[in-house]
Amino acid sequence: MDLFKPINLDSKSSDTPVSGKNEKVKCLIIGSGPAGYTAAIYAARANLSPVLYEGLQPGGQLTTTTEVENYPGYPSGITGPEMMEDFKKQAQRFGTDTRFGIVTGVDFSGSFHKVIIDDTKTIEAEAVIIATGASAKYLGIESETKYAGSGVSACATCDGFFYKNKDVAVVGGGDTACEEALYLSGLCRKVYMIVRKDHLRASKVMQDRVFRTPNIEILYERNTKELRGGKVVEEAVLIRRMGKTDEAEEIIKIDGFFLAIGHTPNSEPFRKYLKTDETGYIQTIPGTSKTNVPGVFACGDVQDHIYRQAVTAAGSGCQAAIDAERYLGEKK
Ligand code: NDP
Repeated sequence: MDLFKPINLDSKSSDTPVSGKNEKVKCLIIGSGPAGYTAAIYAARANLSPVLYEGLQPGGQLTTTTEVENYPGYPSGITGPEMMEDFKKQAQRFGTDTRFGIVTGVDFSGSFHKVIIDDTKTIEAEAVIIATGASAKYLGIESETKYAGSGVSACATCDGFFYKNKDVAVVGGGDTACEEALYLSGLCRKVYMIVRKDHLRASKVMQDRVFRTPNIEILYERNTKELRGGKVVEEAVLIRRMGKTDEAEEIIKIDGFFLAIGHTPNSEPFRKYLKTDETGYIQTIPGTSKTNVPGVFACGDVQDHIYRQAVTAAGSGCQAAIDAERYLGEKK
């Protein structure tokens, strides 16, 4: 799901007010996952009076996860939605102004950074922290939605534990799919990789690791038609050699179905001003949250395609708030 709608700003000059009420704030935070809320907690406690816009999916990707067991501080685990509610309460406790709203455009060309909300309101912020996250790509089949959280997951590190000694499938043939399959191979009895081509796209080193793992079986030239089961996933219906004369249907018995066909960073509205890599991840100065625009900081999954964990996102949110605080202090 795209959290933030793209906008074409070419028709608007930097000082053209957009219809609706304008507002000036010291620190604007965009996004409400672990990175955004952690940035808010630190910014609020540093008297930056942060305003946080939650985006289309308040709470971010974790709200689509069931149990979170790897976030330090929750010895008995916690559900994703509960954890994000706690993050929000903690941010509000120190005075963060949390609001519903979607960023529909930005103008980072002036000394005040303009952010347009819901196409109607312009916020002028001295410092902006972007924590808009990334969205996992899904195949788009109906049963994938039906079994979300009941056998379908887009994060092996988050949910793999629930499939201990069970049989699972990972969709995709890139580095992420190999990484997920390798991680799951240490927990599960059997891991199928469902790959639509007759080869993997992943780097050689990752491929070699997969080939050397006895409980991973690669099913090349397979597409997923549907998932079946009762309350939870029990099997996947695959099409072998789709579109070829020998096309055939196959069924594999599985308990878990992991998507690893890529993520899309939610950086679209910012790309006109911020440097991104070729896949759209915002580039930050290594070791900091600073982007190429002074006063604009990025944290969490929108700038991290490697770790993508709640705890790393939260850590980078803390960095962003500290970077913003120092930036504002130096401006005085
Ligand atoms: P990639 O885009 O590299 O790979 C996506 C995989 O999913 C491909 O095999 C692709 O198939 C498949 N796929 C895409 N859409 C569908 C679909 N609709 N149905 C079935 N299969 C589909 O994404 P990754 O997330 O794997 O990697 C993104 C980037 O991050 C890469 O540059 C990667 O190298 C990097 N990365 C690096 C890691 C590391 O260094 N440890 C770890 C993870 C990622 P096809 O090949 O047919 O297009």
